[in-house]
Amino acid sequence: MAASGEPCRPGRGEAAAVVVVGSCMTDLVSLAHRLPKTGETIHGHKFFIGFGGKGANQCVQAARLGAKTSLVCKVGKDSFGNNYIENLKQNDISTEFAYQTKDAATGTASIIVNNEGQNIIVIVAGANLLLNTEDLRGAVSVISRARVMLCQLEISPATSLGALAMARSSGVKTLFNPAPAIADLDPQFYTLSDVFCCNESEAEILTGLTVGSPADAGKAALMLMGRGCQVVIVTLGAGGCVMLSQTEPTPKHIPTETVKAVDTTGAGDSFVGALAFYLAYYPHLSLEEMLKRSNFIAAVSVQAAGTQSSYPYRKDLPIHLF
Ligand code: ADP
Repeated sequence: MAASGEPCRPGRGEAAAVVVVGSCMTDLVSLAHRLPKTGETIHGHKFFIGFGGKGANQCVQAARLGAKTSLVCKVGKDSFGNNYIENLKQNDISTEFAYQTKDAATGTASIIVNNEGQNIIVIVAGANLLLNTEDLRGAVSVISRARVMLCQLEISPATSLGALAMARSSGVKTLFNPAPAIADLDPQFYTLSDVFCCNESEAEILTGLTVGSPADAGKAALMLMGRGCQVVIVTLGAGGCVMLSQTEPTPKHIPTETVKAVDTTGAGDSFVGALAFYLAYYPHLSLEEMLKRSNFIAAVSVQAAGTQSSYPYRKDLPIHLF
């Protein structure tokens, strides 16, 4: 076992340490001077395709920090699905359990952004919603041998719950990111979460409280921990995050660097992916130290454009993070 502060490196041929059960979405982004009105066709000035989906984003960030990762997901048997699987491979993510289906298209987010940065978005989750508990059973060998299993809510909630239960029954640490949040979350999500990590607006939806400050986030975190999580983290954008645990039940604010943000899209996924990396490879660090480092990595991501394209690689980060 590694001493405090030293990484737990995977051995050769060892199973994935971070397993994500979650979504893949292809972002179809059009930039236009303004948003079209109903029934109107307008010319845009730029189009690009990006790789998104909270599951894949978080997995990509963990992999770029050096985690051995596997993504359990479902895409369509279509060109977007093929391209997505290629993207995962290029990020060194195992695609052994990246299923492809003929029954639905790869998940897409059609996004139009105007000159003011305002947007309209339609998400069609498609194949993501067909990832089911039978698929999880197929992936039991990788889920049960992970150090950390991470999931979100962009796939069917029943599948996420199944993944949490499977990980818990194998003694695998569970990290749950309840995004996008649903108000009537099944209570088992709380009891099956070793670490429950949400942002301000998700904390508001889940608790009914207003969350606009670290003090508010602490109150929300206390309420969420009362539902059975071991650790609760509420992220606060440029304000960093607040943490709370059964062993340290007084909320603690962990501020972050002041940086010039260029594009904060996907910052939360960078943060959660980084946290999964630290939980898996540096389990002896204090939670506070893991969160300081995750804050730092997410702050790097907001200084570049795009989602996955903004996520830093280990080689580009200061050595003190590893
Ligand atoms: P989400 O992307 O889910 O809305 P947040 O906005 O809370 O999540 O951001 C997640 C994390 O990303 C924060 O806890 C912080 O570490 C980092 N972050 C986000 N925005 C900024 C910013 N403007 N400056 C520095 N760090 C940021």
